[in-house]
Amino acid sequence: MQEAVIVLGGGIVGLALARELRLRGQAVELFEARHCGAGATNAATGVLRPPPHRRTPFFQLRQRGWEQWPGLATQLRQETGIDVGYRVCGGIDIRDVTERDPQRACDQLRHTDGEVRILSASQLQELLPSMQREPTAGLFIEQEATVDPRALIEALRESCLQSGVRIHEQLGPIGIEPRGDDGIDLVGQLPHDFCVSAERQVVLAAGWESTNALRDLPPAPLPLDPVRGEAIALDIPAPDHIVTFDARQEAIEDAAGNRSRFSWIPAPNGKSWLGNSVGTDQQEDPPSPEPTAMGLEQLLVAAQSMFGAEVRDRVTDHWAGIRPKAMRHGGPLLGRWPGRPQLWIATGHYRTGLLVGPTTASMVVDAMLGGAQIPEPFSIPEGSK
Ligand SMILES: Cc1cc2nc3c(=O)[nH]c(=O)nc-3n(C[C@H](O)[C@H](O)[C@H](O)COP(=O)(O)OP(=O)(O)OC[C@H]3O[C@@H](n4cnc5c(N)ncnc54)[C@H](O)[C@@H]3O)c2cc1C
Repeated sequence: MQEAVIVLGGGIVGLALARELRLRGQAVELFEARHCGAGATNAATGVLRPPPHRRTPFFQLRQRGWEQWPGLATQLRQETGIDVGYRVCGGIDIRDVTERDPQRACDQLRHTDGEVRILSASQLQELLPSMQREPTAGLFIEQEATVDPRALIEALRESCLQSGVRIHEQLGPIGIEPRGDDGIDLVGQLPHDFCVSAERQVVLAAGWESTNALRDLPPAPLPLDPVRGEAIALDIPAPDHIVTFDARQEAIEDAAGNRSRFSWIPAPNGKSWLGNSVGTDQQEDPPSPEPTAMGLEQLLVAAQSMFGAEVRDRVTDHWAGIRPKAMRHGGPLLGRWPGRPQLWIATGHYRTGLLVGPTTASMVVDAMLGGAQIPEPFSIPEGSK
């Protein structure tokens, strides 16, 4: 009998992998420490954006992810009846740099498909009636989309179950230990009668916790860092488009400008979400996915810069998640673990897991089943951290 492939982790990456493996005829068992979506995926704010150009392998990957999304949303609806909330709603960019030189910002997007046009101050006021700031110019970018992360997890989980993937949840963390020179063992609260033979393939897709799951496995720790992201829900009606803006804060050192960037997002239920691009520094060890007072304060300062002081009373929810950031140039960490041929890794998707997770799942499955090469910038580094 065919030995089932084991997938560790039931976020977007693990579920997309399990689904893809099953669609290609593999028996699959998915082991999840908590419940599917419990990690970064359910905390995500559901923004999908194509890259501004396609000159690097990571940007090419993001473009592929963008192009595959309409088909994926349709397939999931056909398979499960669940609408994952995929909508090409477009975006409005009123970042400081755009306001200063809108023509330059527009030119920088000339390689993206879809319409990009400059918006005047009066057009912005018309499009965003609840906004209290008064930008002098901005951009409309046709090709930006949203998806409902929770509906996505529900649909992927349902699709997996319907196709015969066996999903085991609430197991607590499963660890991977070396066995002999090139084998592995799984340790933890495993489903009964379970064993790892030398033939069994295991894919680790446990988000930022993937590092913890790899126990004493040479050659080196997985180069992965946890980066917190936080978001709030507002009872302000959803904007028609995703609005990207800057809100500089004295307490935050931000040479690159990333920590000042926020998005106001049409949420699935007609309300709106506001989230940060990068997030608060991670100081706890081990990192905690609990939302913080500091994170809330930063989001409120940003929200006030858009909607005025009263917005404090309009926050209906506040949450956080830990993004798995690959600590090397390139993009996610994908491929076979050096020296352990039955162990595969799929993590490090950082801020783009919803956009590229399903595409990277196909890449890993292509490599596992057909021997396709994972592009070098995404492969697992052999050296040290
Ligand atoms: C606030 C916020 C907003 C974001 N917004 C966006 C966005 O708009 N667009 C976008 O593309 N991305 C966004 N992201 C990033 C995106 O959420 C992540 O890139 C993506 O969810 C990572 O998916 P994953 O499956 O690798 O990890 P996770 O979703 O974290 O899933 C890992 C799973 O593994 C389980 N697990 C952990 N350890 C073990 C173990 N040892 N054994 C078994 N199971 C284990 C966990 O319980 C979890 O369910 C956002 C993230 C945050 C925090």
